[in-house]
Amino acid sequence: MAYKKSKEKSPASPPPLQLSKWDRQYVWHPFTQMQEWEQEEPLIIEKAKGTYLYDIHGNKYLDGTSGMWVNVHGYRHPAIDKAIRDQLNKVAHSTLLGQASPPSILLAKELIRIAPKGLTKVFYSDDGSTAVEVALKMAIQYWQQQHPPAKKKKKFVRLDLAYHGDTAGCMSVGGITLFHERFRPLLVNTISIDAPYCYRCPLKLDYPSCHMACIDPLEKILAKQNEEIAGVVIEPMVQAVAGMITQPPGYLSRVRELCTKYNVLMIADEVATGFGRTGTMFACEHEKVTPDLMAVAKGLTGGYLPLAATLTTEKIYQAFLGDYIEFKTFFHGHSYTGNALACAAALANLKLFRTEKMLAKVKTGSRLIKQLMKPLAAFSTVGDIRQRGYMVGIEIVKNKKTKEPFPLNARIGYKVAMECRKQGLLIRPIGNVLVLIPPLSVTESEFRSIISILQKSLRSIESPVEGTKRYTFASD
Ligand code: PMP
Repeated sequence: MAYKKSKEKSPASPPPLQLSKWDRQYVWHPFTQMQEWEQEEPLIIEKAKGTYLYDIHGNKYLDGTSGMWVNVHGYRHPAIDKAIRDQLNKVAHSTLLGQASPPSILLAKELIRIAPKGLTKVFYSDDGSTAVEVALKMAIQYWQQQHPPAKKKKKFVRLDLAYHGDTAGCMSVGGITLFHERFRPLLVNTISIDAPYCYRCPLKLDYPSCHMACIDPLEKILAKQNEEIAGVVIEPMVQAVAGMITQPPGYLSRVRELCTKYNVLMIADEVATGFGRTGTMFACEHEKVTPDLMAVAKGLTGGYLPLAATLTTEKIYQAFLGDYIEFKTFFHGHSYTGNALACAAALANLKLFRTEKMLAKVKTGSRLIKQLMKPLAAFSTVGDIRQRGYMVGIEIVKNKKTKEPFPLNARIGYKVAMECRKQGLLIRPIGNVLVLIPPLSVTESEFRSIISILQKSLRSIESPVEGTKRYTFASD
């Protein structure tokens, strides 16, 4: 049973049953237990429009995940569709190794125009992981090319529960045991500090009386070991995959201060938070922070094509200049780096932020989302609601008083998500956290439907209780 049947007929070739069979036979899906997948009917999406996805049977779903947090202005936006078609009539791809292309030049110029002040150069890659990997490599090489070389500076400080992607460097600075631990033999040693997870404070303190004590270890580490540390890697304002952990006000700017004070680079991973997601173009803007390196991807093309970029400062860029035989070149680049179709999509996407006044809409919308979500706090299984802009995490707990989590094998997030799906809403939970990341173009009535479906689905696992509220660092 789904939300509503689409009237449009899907051009079903080959037939749905055949596609399901071939999917199970040939495709290995990411972050998916395939044994389970093989036993279920796969959800096969055939087309989309606005905030809705349509499966091969013609069922219509609200997309609460933005196609894995990438979609910005809705599916099939005429302006982005057209930009890609126009570019296709010129050339789909030409390399940036030894050549340049108009879309990649114009996009770099536009990115620098909208980026936090002080970032002046754009290095393209393909996805969030590569953008972070590039930042890590640039940081290491930067310190080697100082006068005299700071060769010892090659360690990174990371936050517990961080997620920066699935390549080796990214996993090294990640902190999610389930994803990263078994790969430690592949990874480099990093220094971990607690995440500012206020709902489950690692220090058992409360904000603001804690005075952000969780950040004190960072100062101690930097004071003692800064000569070995290349950089601090952080997802600004929201640790997304950790379960939408929202950082307390002042946390990000404190990290910036400490990085500057102890001469280590600040690497901001804006892959999830960038492009309006948190209510500002980049999350760093909330605290007027300019990182030394900034990774962007996901929303860069409005959710159309894979493209990423690592932005950096003139100071870092200059350290890579020299005669060829000095070998200061940044020896890194991917086959599809700066792909012309993707850059054309990104330019159209960024233009829509201006013409549609998207940031202002997100600001107003964030306040509305905050209001609409309030009733969810009354559910006895809703422990915490975290929101920053259009990034929402709802932490489901077994016992609201003690915050006892459901055991992972209860698969509570998954169960709620499957209930939502039956009612025509797609969400992908992270463990016990229900994640809502709709396209920024979501309308008020669509968001009301999302909340109503969520309420019905939560009701299926419990009954509401009175007088329980917690709402952390909500956006405005
Ligand atoms: N950094 C962050 C903060 C992310 O949320 C993600 C993806 N969820 C990545 C990096 C990796 O991006 P990608 O999947 O495009 O490689």
